[in-house]
Amino acid sequence: MNGQLRVLGLGPGPSDWITPEASRELAAASDIVGYKTYVSRLTVRAGQTVHASDNGDELARARWALELAERGARVVVVSGGDPGVFAMAAAVFEAIDHGPDAWRRLDVAVLPGVTAMLAAAARLGAPLGADFCAINLSDNLKPWALIEKRLTLAAQADFVIALYNPASKARPEQVHRAFAVLRGLLPAHTLVAFAAAIGRPDETIQLTTLSEADPSRADMRTLLLIGASGTRRIERGSGEPFVYTSRRATGAA
Ligand code: SAH
Repeated sequence: MNGQLRVLGLGPGPSDWITPEASRELAAASDIVGYKTYVSRLTVRAGQTVHASDNGDELARARWALELAERGARVVVVSGGDPGVFAMAAAVFEAIDHGPDAWRRLDVAVLPGVTAMLAAAARLGAPLGADFCAINLSDNLKPWALIEKRLTLAAQADFVIALYNPASKARPEQVHRAFAVLRGLLPAHTLVAFAAAIGRPDETIQLTTLSEADPSRADMRTLLLIGASGTRRIERGSGEPFVYTSRRATGAA
């Protein structure tokens, strides 16, 4: 029997943000591999085996999924959001890169999904309308000095900056350090959005400025967006303001 492996994302929250393609593959899978929080969002049918793991070792999870596929299983590996953005797809390829030759011949494909940054941006308006970048603030897999360097250069280049994984219980401090870096480089009125649990019942969005933002508001369910010089607020009376970034730029950062 020929196995296969599909790496897919469940979107940031509601099932409406799972693509039809991902839903089809989920329904057809014999084995579902993923972090337990994501797997618990799924309706599992009879005959499917769920391999729910603790967050920890993504590479071990990827290897296990590849082993199952090698044995002939129809495997899906699930992530939140998009599987290629700070998620399982890269772990699967790292495992293939360093694994047995047989894994290179497996039928492996990644299915695109809706990443948190896009969902948060859609709620606000069009803050990612001009050049932007995404930075993962977690220093679990890279040194903090590199994160600071990337924040510095992104701010100097006048990118809109999306910050994933801004804080967790184990890492409450980094987001404060990140704000200190940004405050040293960007104007006080720079727009900042704390977009938390987007698409879920407890969704909140706080729109503020770099000088007024309270970094301790960020947790592991928060996506932070830092505006660029072209990012604007449109006030709407009693409604929530829109935020957009003009596609026109003068070149003066
Ligand atoms: N693969 C995921 C990202 C995994 S990293 C994706 O494409 O979205 C996990 C981080 O994503 C969280 O710490 C948070 O910064 C962001 N995130 C995920 N879901 C979110 C949601 N519903 N609302 C806001 N941010 C979210």
